[in-house]
Amino acid sequence: MIDIRDLSVVFGSGRLRVEAVKGLSMRIAEGESFGLVGESGSGKSTVLRAICGLAPVSAGTIAVAGKPVPVPRNRAFFATVQMVFQDPYGSLHPRQTVDQILSEPLAIHRLSDRDRRIARALADVGLGSSFRFRYPHQLSGGQRQRVAIARALILDPRVILLDEPTSALDASVQAEILNLLERLRAERRLTYILVSHDLAVVTHLCDRLLVMRNGETVEETDTEHLRAGKAETAYTRALMKATEGFTRAAPASTE
Ligand code: ADP
Ligand code: MG
Repeated sequence: MIDIRDLSVVFGSGRLRVEAVKGLSMRIAEGESFGLVGESGSGKSTVLRAICGLAPVSAGTIAVAGKPVPVPRNRAFFATVQMVFQDPYGSLHPRQTVDQILSEPLAIHRLSDRDRRIARALADVGLGSSFRFRYPHQLSGGQRQRVAIARALILDPRVILLDEPTSALDASVQAEILNLLERLRAERRLTYILVSHDLAVVTHLCDRLLVMRNGETVEETDTEHLRAGKAETAYTRALMKATEGFTRAAPASTE
């Protein structure tokens, strides 16, 4: 579903040049949930932004569903690939109701049947119809992130790019949202790339993952290996140590 080869992203030039991503490759199958983990500044968000055409691809190729991504990204691309950001406070327009927020992608993609699609999208993320005419400030953090997920889902995409989707939330709400994402992926055969600085979050949702540092790939590994204590590099072992709760059992299903 996603095939990235030797991707490099460079910002600026001369003294201001930043090589945010250096020769990154990854292949992700349909229905798979793939993790990108690393400290802040390691280039994780830049990879997602490059896929969406929001960061410059300096070298390498990106293909989605077997085809090179279009330049510029077009409507068909965004019907296939959607993104959910960390901060549901920032990513939802404060003066728009949930109804308006969910209507916007439908209008852009000229889809009819608005009422039915909005009701379904809300139900899919566990929000009743009473939420439809509320404003973001009338929602909890977890409810806002559910709205952001509903907005991503409403076009029935095949791929969702999740950039720190639970980092702004309390631990218990974080587990709820991760369980929701896991259920949606299983039900709809969605493909995820989940970005997080938190190894516990990534291993909760992903079987395979890639560890990044300063734009470079440190190692590609899987959750089972890590749980068995088989990290290959000292960097990954340090990340594991720094991740509170990594050694604890995965959070219980509280959705
Ligand atoms: P992460 O998501 O892992 O925290 P980012 O992908 O946001 O890391 O950033 C990787 C590096 O690229 C950082 O050094 C950051 O400062 C730099 N960077 C990201 N976006 C830009 C930009 N638009 N212009 C210049 N530098 C950028
Ligand atoms: Mg980031």
